[in-house]
Amino acid sequence: MVYLDHAATTPVPRAVADAMYDVLSEQFGNPSAQYPMGLEMKKQVAHWRSVVAGALGCEPGRLFFTSCGTEGDNWAITAACWQNRHLGRHIVTTAVEHSAMLEGCRWMEKQGYEVTYLAPEPLSGAVTARQVLSAVRPDTALVSVMLVNNELGCIYPVEEIARGLAAQNPRTLLHTDAVQGFLKVPFSAKTLGADLITISAHKIGGPKGIGALYMGPRVKNPRPLLPGGGQESGARSGTEATAQIAGFAKAVELRGEHLAGKLSHMADIREYAVRRLCQIPDVQLVGGGTAPHILCVSLVGWPSQNIVNDLGSQGICISAGSACHQGRPSHVVAALKLPKRVAGGVIRLSFGPETTREDIDACAQALLRHHDSRMPML
Ligand code: PLP
Repeated sequence: MVYLDHAATTPVPRAVADAMYDVLSEQFGNPSAQYPMGLEMKKQVAHWRSVVAGALGCEPGRLFFTSCGTEGDNWAITAACWQNRHLGRHIVTTAVEHSAMLEGCRWMEKQGYEVTYLAPEPLSGAVTARQVLSAVRPDTALVSVMLVNNELGCIYPVEEIARGLAAQNPRTLLHTDAVQGFLKVPFSAKTLGADLITISAHKIGGPKGIGALYMGPRVKNPRPLLPGGGQESGARSGTEATAQIAGFAKAVELRGEHLAGKLSHMADIREYAVRRLCQIPDVQLVGGGTAPHILCVSLVGWPSQNIVNDLGSQGICISAGSACHQGRPSHVVAALKLPKRVAGGVIRLSFGPETTREDIDACAQALLRHHDSRMPML
């Protein structure tokens, strides 16, 4: 199998699975229990939290485990809107956020909030800090701009937005969905300046079903997402998902070893893929993405779902835009305002430290065969 869909999810290394198995089978104590096995697990969870927080560049007490990136995004919205409920009912975000953010915002609209969805620059998908800041009003409770776009690989200027927002409207909270940025586009919570940062384990070799939300010092007494037994400092109750948390921390440790080398390998692979794919007739690069692990192209005139199906039947896994859209046209591609034949042929290749040039060669050959054997339909 050739796996080129690391932005959808990533393989779990054996050491991560082993760490999880150990917790499930041996160290299965409840961290709230008062006997040694429980107390030991409480210590372990604190250690794992400090590992993830260390990679994010924040104090462990500012990191709250969640069940996934989707939960982190939704919690960020409700936490910020609750804190700023007396400031106003306006949210600024982009039209190319992950659906976890967009649907969360739509839900807020149903509760009377006004949401400004900023359109990116056509063709490139770029979003500028000036564009975001000019949409901010005195009643803006939350600004949310993702760090790396999951379909295009565009990196958005979150740090610059944070600086501008602090000067312009210091009470407005800033959230960034860094699910595709964490350990891919190095940043530190301390210097990034966002008040809320969402991450997810399964994009970096961790298990599915665990993520985290960073809440910075300007987020005061966050409204509990799940009131209950008081776990996660009372902000998100529910017995800790100890095996998932152990797997998350192990994945962070593994990914963090020689991270610079891994990132430059991914960037090399991306560059190689650009060269190989652009030799195929009718292939065109899409968007101005620069993240090392995401490459968006179009086989102009060939429907992307057919490409994905054809390559999939040969054991080559790529995505037609975002895996989260399940075959529906992607809102991100639509926002680029591409000609119909370009938009219809958009596919995403995404890479991990394990990706090889041979993987790219196999994909390029299959794409060329697809091109040569079928009539374009768009
Ligand atoms: N945000 C972005 C940018 C993503 O790419 C994803 C997943 O693809 C999510 C949020 C959702 O994360 P999770 O799958 O952990 O809910």
